[in-house]
Amino acid sequence: MISSNHALAAFNKREKIIVIGAGIIGTSIAYELSKMGAQVTLIDQKFPGSAASGSTFSWINATYPKKPYPYNFLSQLGIDAYKSLEKEINLKIKWGGSLEWFDSDEEQTTLMNEVNNLKKYPRYSAVDVINEREARNLEPGIDFKNKNIVFSRADGAIDTIHAINLMIENIEFNGGSVLYPCQFQGLKYTNGRLSSVETTIGELEAHQAIFATGIDSGRLLSIEMMKPSTPGIIVTSKPTENILNRIIVGPGVHIHQQTDGRIIFGEQTGAPSSHIDRLSDKPKEFPSEIFAQDHTNRIFDTAKTFMKKVEDLKVERVSIGWRPLPRDGIPIIGRLEGLSDVYVAVMHSGVSLAAIVGKLVSEEILSGSTNLLLKDFRPSRFN
Ligand SMILES: Cc1cc2nc3c(=O)[nH]c(=O)nc-3n(C[C@H](O)[C@H](O)[C@H](O)COP(=O)(O)OP(=O)(O)OC[C@H]3O[C@@H](n4cnc5c(N)ncnc54)[C@H](O)[C@@H]3O)c2cc1C
Repeated sequence: MISSNHALAAFNKREKIIVIGAGIIGTSIAYELSKMGAQVTLIDQKFPGSAASGSTFSWINATYPKKPYPYNFLSQLGIDAYKSLEKEINLKIKWGGSLEWFDSDEEQTTLMNEVNNLKKYPRYSAVDVINEREARNLEPGIDFKNKNIVFSRADGAIDTIHAINLMIENIEFNGGSVLYPCQFQGLKYTNGRLSSVETTIGELEAHQAIFATGIDSGRLLSIEMMKPSTPGIIVTSKPTENILNRIIVGPGVHIHQQTDGRIIFGEQTGAPSSHIDRLSDKPKEFPSEIFAQDHTNRIFDTAKTFMKKVEDLKVERVSIGWRPLPRDGIPIIGRLEGLSDVYVAVMHSGVSLAAIVGKLVSEEILSGSTNLLLKDFRPSRFN
């Protein structure tokens, strides 16, 4: 008996599929397509992981901000999907859950209410409220300031660049191609069907095109589906001894330690609106060492208020990431109405969702079917 995946691939294997954008989303989609025997080419205007996915905090979660329920449920399936991807490609994932709390009583009350709301969902990701002593046992290097802590047990974190590179190795092993720098420039139709994608390196034959182009997606597809992107700063330390076991979602800064010993700091608040004009070109680096150092000092000073050994860390990289933000905060996944053979996948929390989105999108693309799990995320809501 042949499996349904093999049947799909056998049916579609002559279709050429171009995935535009080699962030974590496009790479995961291309990887899943290649696994099923599709003829897939992944392209990027710069290089894989050059945009949001290269400057992200990389926390995999299905916590309370993921609402309403269909979005939360998809995120829970996202965690499950990483468990199989982890084994499949030997991806290193730091599991262990996350610990979250706030300084102010008001924010703590809101947090606890959000957790209670989360628990009303038919299915929710394991979450408990624990006291300071319990939290300290889990994470001795953190001062929880006598607060109650939300422990989301199922959460994990990855090194997104490592994940992208691993999937690319597998795409190529499965017979797919990865081309960069190669910028998308246009779609070409023959007899009403997509026949090629025009790029800076020439025309690429294509029967289906998938846009996983992050913040550029609305502009490229001429659909008003995105709101302005906001920046976030990520500081990465050089590898160090193990000092953190879990993802720390502390007041003002998020912190985790990768399996390779690097510690990742992500600021919670973005740049003040007075800086947004200066940042209109969406730089990924600071204009000088001094700016990078100032921001690092600010983030480290916040971290020091609750974490030991921050002053011993050596900084390896400081980068600015730009979040792809759908207009209504919910992922945009599906075919475009009126533009046949074109599919889009753009979302915030794309790291949490990449593994499940890769699987669901590749199945829809190859089978031509629609999966009910994605019905709330269709781009047609912006028509
Ligand atoms: C500071 C920060 C922290 C974050 N923290 C988390 C977190 O902890 N957990 C989480 O789940 N999410 C987090 N996110 C969000 C997450 O990083 C993004 O949702 C995710 O990386 C988006 O992936 P993507 O592949 O859709 O887009 P991107 O990574 O932006 O990739 C899009 C790619 O498309 C390419 N492209 C664009 N236009 C073209 C063109 N014309 N031709 C060819 N290629 C093109 C770009 O070069 C780029 O490589 C964070 C984001 C930021 C910025």
